[in-house]
Amino acid sequence: MTLTATKELQEHQWHNLPEDKVAIILETDLENGLLASEIAERQREFGLNQLTVKEGKPAWLKFILQFNQPLLIILVCAGAIKAILGEWINAGVIWGVTTTNAIISFTQEAQAENAIAALASAVRTEATVIRDGKKLKISSEELVPGDIVLLTSGDKVPADLRLIKVRDLQIDESALTGESVAVEKYEEVEGTVVLPPETPLAERSNMAYAGGFVTFGQGSGIVIATGNNTETGKISQLIEQRVDLTTPLTRKFNQFSQNWLYFVLFMATLTFAVGLGQRNFKEAVEPAVALIVGAIPEGLPAVITVTLAVGVARMARRHAIIRKLPAVETLGSATVICSDKTGTLTENQMTVQAIYAGSAGYTVSGTGYNFKGEILQNQQPIDVKVYPVLQECLLAGLLCNDSHLEQKNGNFVVIGDPTEGALIAAGGKAGLLQQAVERLHPRLDSIPFESDFQYMATLHETRGEKTIYVKGSAEAILKRCQKMVDGKGNVIELNLAPIEKAVETLAKQGLRVLTFAKKNVPNEQKTVNHTDLEEGLIFLGLQGMIDPPRKEAIAAVHACQGAGIQVKMITGDHITTAQAIARRMGFRNRNKKIVAYTGAQLAQMKKNELAEAVEEGVVFARVAPEQKLRIVEALQAKGEIVAMTGDGVNDAPALKQADIGIAMGSGTEVSKEASDMLLTDNNFASIAAAVEEGRSVYKNLLKAICFILPVNGGESMTILISTLLGREMPILSLQILWLNMLNSITMTVPLSFEPKTAGVMKNPPRPANEPFLTQNRIKRILAVSLYNWTLIFGMFEWVRQADWGSIELARTMAIQALVMGRIFYLLSISQLLPSLMAKFNGSQEKVSGAPALAVGIVVAVILQIIFANSTFINGIFQTAPMTLDQWLICFGASLPMIAIAASVNRFDPPN
Ligand code: ADP
Ligand code: MG
Repeated sequence: MTLTATKELQEHQWHNLPEDKVAIILETDLENGLLASEIAERQREFGLNQLTVKEGKPAWLKFILQFNQPLLIILVCAGAIKAILGEWINAGVIWGVTTTNAIISFTQEAQAENAIAALASAVRTEATVIRDGKKLKISSEELVPGDIVLLTSGDKVPADLRLIKVRDLQIDESALTGESVAVEKYEEVEGTVVLPPETPLAERSNMAYAGGFVTFGQGSGIVIATGNNTETGKISQLIEQRVDLTTPLTRKFNQFSQNWLYFVLFMATLTFAVGLGQRNFKEAVEPAVALIVGAIPEGLPAVITVTLAVGVARMARRHAIIRKLPAVETLGSATVICSDKTGTLTENQMTVQAIYAGSAGYTVSGTGYNFKGEILQNQQPIDVKVYPVLQECLLAGLLCNDSHLEQKNGNFVVIGDPTEGALIAAGGKAGLLQQAVERLHPRLDSIPFESDFQYMATLHETRGEKTIYVKGSAEAILKRCQKMVDGKGNVIELNLAPIEKAVETLAKQGLRVLTFAKKNVPNEQKTVNHTDLEEGLIFLGLQGMIDPPRKEAIAAVHACQGAGIQVKMITGDHITTAQAIARRMGFRNRNKKIVAYTGAQLAQMKKNELAEAVEEGVVFARVAPEQKLRIVEALQAKGEIVAMTGDGVNDAPALKQADIGIAMGSGTEVSKEASDMLLTDNNFASIAAAVEEGRSVYKNLLKAICFILPVNGGESMTILISTLLGREMPILSLQILWLNMLNSITMTVPLSFEPKTAGVMKNPPRPANEPFLTQNRIKRILAVSLYNWTLIFGMFEWVRQADWGSIELARTMAIQALVMGRIFYLLSISQLLPSLMAKFNGSQEKVSGAPALAVGIVVAVILQIIFANSTFINGIFQTAPMTLDQWLICFGASLPMIAIAASVNRFDPPN
């Protein structure tokens, strides 16, 4: 038969069919999978394995929704009042500016959303398949019905599968079935199971459905449906791809806007009432509208969005992909970073350097995964064949191994776990080749390595005899050994003390120690189970491997500690090894000590003891992934803001609980899904970089707020005071809109691109509960507002005294003075001048971002010239042309801003 239609496939009750029948229907081979040559054909027929996402809200609706903010609604109403009064130009400009504002925030938001969505989709899900009899990793989008997929713990089930082999397989299908018990267990079965057709989805133990997470064990299955035809696809074709742009700060800001709004409305009513007492209705409306327009920071929301988006892009450039926007801010306030050791702090480039077998020590020379190097005893090369235990210890390392080495551009690289790659290289140096020994001792069964057990075991057949080889941590293996092999190859009683001493000696050198053992089992045994390993193992030897610290990570640990952030190492490795690495990398707690605990110690502690231990400790060794959650919670209870890394399936709860969960690009799908941020290079240094960017983003946000609010302050004060005094309005609502929109945006958006300051990693983290308007920041805003008021009110009143001072000219000059003061103020909080100074003094550092500010200022100045000297604009905004003298007067009046800015910078440093 041929595979004609998707529909045809959907008619089958896959759980009710035996697996060989499934293979026939799907024209695939249970052992070798599909032929690579068939894939393209099937992809054409069934399409890519992806869900079509529903288009989000249409653009026009999103645009309309921009107006759904109280502040904008009020502006629209203010325009309407003007229209009712017949002031059509006024109304038109208010509406025009409001619309311009909506267009700007709409495009900014769309850009930010797209950027974030693009980053998220750049992280692709991988699947392991068998095609042409070979195991491959492919992007899960490329899967087609008939593919044989391998699953291991941590994987996301990439498509709907009819399972063919399982080993302790557990899958969390809660997303699909809504089962409250998240873990679904597929019982181990002999041969095929066929379930009755009516079995409900949640009970089909011979199926795995797309979107589930493998939480334990292994399995394999045939793809029976992909993309929209999967069960998840059928119910969730309508999921919307939506990016949430709110963060703690934007929420705080929205809250603030709400309260501010009530206040503004109250003051506007008051102004209107006072106005009514003095003039007619129409004249009383203008100051009230002007107050509303003036008191509302219209340009600010757009600036906040841009700043966050810039932060996300900068972090991505430094290998940190933000999955959830709030992390951008939270990163800046992190007080503790808990990092995995292997691969994050270290290179994950393992090389066996020492071996202990038959009560004797050996060293291994050479680096990397090639076979260049020798096994030495007392610095002399030896012939390994003469040392039977040594040879068997190396053999165990090759057999009890799920990885292999491959040659790429002349270098050997590990496909699999670097720990295991090192063992293969060590064997190679002794003349033992993996493929050859695997042929001599075929593998019958295995228990793969899981951090929870800390060991791995394989069952082999050698000329009719059955042997289990085991490798793992010393703690996990030695307690299961009763015997050992001596130097001559004889099995004798175990003598534990010298072995433990050898473990300690190797660990002290920072080596990761693996312990090897074997067990001879009866000939009829075909499988290996955890119960086989409870006791009766024969100790073979130890192999110690070096995993050098990453150089950038050492610098990053120093940088974080200097920035008041505690760095803690969490590892499954031996405590002594971990301590040695921590010492080499410069780890220290607040009392400058390296305090270490093991997972076993933590497990026994009471709550308050644990709280002390997690604060004081910098190394947590032999920690089971489940314990990470306890560590995070204990730190959080102490008020810390915790960033935590993880890559395994059991790390997910800790990543979710942490304030910033950090997954590794190479980690499991489960961990990625639970994370807020992803490191594409797995490197600790990238966490430090993200923290640095997070701090800068927050600073830039605050700068924008501190820059915009004083202008609103100055404008509202002007209107209130002038109304109360019964004077002419120094500034009109339209002119205020010009200032708050055009002028604010050209000058503030560049603040989002401000480069980070040199001091950003010198100060302690910002307190997590700090409000964005601190006491000092409020004082700053009030002080600058007051001066802004002096500029507008003073300039206006002064020009009005002069015989040449028409009311239009007085207003124009008041505004020009304000803008000039504003430029000085902007320069005082930005990085432009400091970076120019640094450049002047010969610094090589690039001043990226700072030039944007110069451009912003130039554009603002040009706009101001047009504002005064274009007849067209004069007509609309009721301004008047200015002479050079008048420009100079405005310039002179704005100069004191320099002194004011300098003094507020004293008590509220902007950088
Ligand atoms: P980490 O990744 O934090 O270093 P792991 O949980 O991977 O910790 O490893 C814990 C211990 O388990 C190691 O110290 C080592 O003794 C042992 N181990 C690590 N990898 C393997 C493996 N592939 N097979 C057997 N034992 C291993
Ligand atoms: Mg590991």
